[in-house]
Amino acid sequence: MCGIVGFTGVIPAAPVLLEGLARLEYRGYDSAGIAVFQNHKILIKKACGRLKTLCDLISNGINYDSPTGIGHTRWATHGKPSDDNAHPHRSQDGSFAIVHNGIIENYAMLKRQLQEKGYQFSSETDTEVVAHLLQDNYNGDLFDTIVRTLQMLEGSYALGILNVDHPDELYAVRKSSPLIVGTSNQGNMIASDIPAILPLTRKVYYLNDNEIVRLTKNSVEIFDLQHHLLDRAVTTIDWDVSAAEKGGYEHFMIKEIMEQPKALRDTITPRIKNGQIHLDGIEIDQALLQNIQRINIIACGSAYHVGVVAKYVIEELCRIPVFAEIASEFRYSNPIVDENSLVIIISQSGETADTLAALREAKARGATILSIVNVVGSSIANESKNVLYTWAGPEISVATTKAYSTQLALMYLIALYIAQRLGRVDDTQTSNLLAQIAALPDKVEQILKLAPKIETLAQRYAYLEHAYFIGRNLDYAVALEASLKLKEISYIHSEAYAAGELKHGTISLIEDGTFVAGLACVKRLVAKTMSNIKEVKARGAEVLLLTCEDYDIHSDEVDHILTIPSTHELLMPSLEVVPLQLLGYYVAKARNCDIDKPRNLAKSVTVE
Ligand code: GLU
Repeated sequence: MCGIVGFTGVIPAAPVLLEGLARLEYRGYDSAGIAVFQNHKILIKKACGRLKTLCDLISNGINYDSPTGIGHTRWATHGKPSDDNAHPHRSQDGSFAIVHNGIIENYAMLKRQLQEKGYQFSSETDTEVVAHLLQDNYNGDLFDTIVRTLQMLEGSYALGILNVDHPDELYAVRKSSPLIVGTSNQGNMIASDIPAILPLTRKVYYLNDNEIVRLTKNSVEIFDLQHHLLDRAVTTIDWDVSAAEKGGYEHFMIKEIMEQPKALRDTITPRIKNGQIHLDGIEIDQALLQNIQRINIIACGSAYHVGVVAKYVIEELCRIPVFAEIASEFRYSNPIVDENSLVIIISQSGETADTLAALREAKARGATILSIVNVVGSSIANESKNVLYTWAGPEISVATTKAYSTQLALMYLIALYIAQRLGRVDDTQTSNLLAQIAALPDKVEQILKLAPKIETLAQRYAYLEHAYFIGRNLDYAVALEASLKLKEISYIHSEAYAAGELKHGTISLIEDGTFVAGLACVKRLVAKTMSNIKEVKARGAEVLLLTCEDYDIHSDEVDHILTIPSTHELLMPSLEVVPLQLLGYYVAKARNCDIDKPRNLAKSVTVE
């Protein structure tokens, strides 16, 4: 999720590693560490908190002359931010040190097996199993050892590996997690992202999944898992640091929109195993579920909009009343919440002050809490008995995209989990829904290809003063998010309306040229929504329709149309939101707005 660096060359590694890590700081992290060789051993230094804490601890690395080492900034996914959980991690005998980005999905099983063999763990991370497995599999042939270890791993990883018998070598591998190699006449370097290598070089090799790279001070060899040497051309980077931080994109927001397929995969895949839902980290009493009177979903902003979608979904699947509530309102409302309530809290940062206060209020009234957060070790996570992490990785843009999408994906799994435990869905419904949830990342990937078309369309809307998003049921829930996205970054006044409600007042605002985005993705309500669209068209509105590619809608009924693939009706919001995020982004870009840092807004709202 966060930053890896590694270096082997003709100069001391530690300063290169620390400078590389400093270049990755913009991504956000919770701890940092490095490993270098010293007296034929691997020395590891790591510290929770800012990189500066580590730099101070080791006097900026000036006393280490090892020309080979690895470094890491951690963004915790498994285990709180702490010195022990910080990377690098060592094997039990100290012969291996590794840094890891990503998630080892089958770590719990591997950990049990290793513990049975007598391995002792010194961290709560998923990563540590890899270090012990390397030791366990070691047969003198480092390449072979790494391959056999990788064959045991499920999940996503970029790994940097040091072995005490090979002090002049650095191995690295990637699978579904970024990793590049920089090459220079001072040495060679691995990094999870380009900014880290820019102080050393602009010449890079890009690695593909399941490739292993072996670096020495004067060579870079890239192999496939069968140990075939691969031919790879060097690319010269001409980005400046700021472009490099954004992976070549103009803004973090578009980078994060494009990262959604991966974020969704990381969030969903570990939770569906053999056709079953696995929600590690939650324990909800069966008696509570059986007696439950209501579920409250409490959040702010986009996370609240996730709650609105979830209300429809949980009520449909579980037949339990659900109340989606704005945290700042819930808190002072003398809420009807007691021991028979399940309260679901949603927050990207886990520090949202209003949401945290609402959590405390619900807890004080005896409710069972289940939190969905993106940041491990955050206050909301710490204060909740049950926590599910979104594993979207750090989100830098103030306007959320990948956190929203992954929160929503988790809500689907939670809804289905509760429905299953209450016997409200049968096996066929469950496996059908799970298969469709698992297919969401690929479909989102497909939808992202609409970006150029939406960018062109957005030019038309750059001068709008007002915008309306209308839809019914789940489409309405998505309209809320689409409207917020547009207004928060483009400063265009925008409102979301339940399509059937428009005629009760708001329709008087529609005149020639008023922009209305009609959302018609809930199949059973398409005809109804189309009638409402006709009503605004009749009053001069310019209508952009978002619908499914296999619905029978005549494009001449509206001014512009965007179509997306279909999925189970309840899951449509996951797909539908993506073109609308792109719309908000490209309109704001056409208006030259400060997209990643919109005026008056902060990423994590820690005041009431
Ligand atoms: N899953 C690992 C951990 O929690 C790696 C996190 C990262 O990518 O920074 O330690």
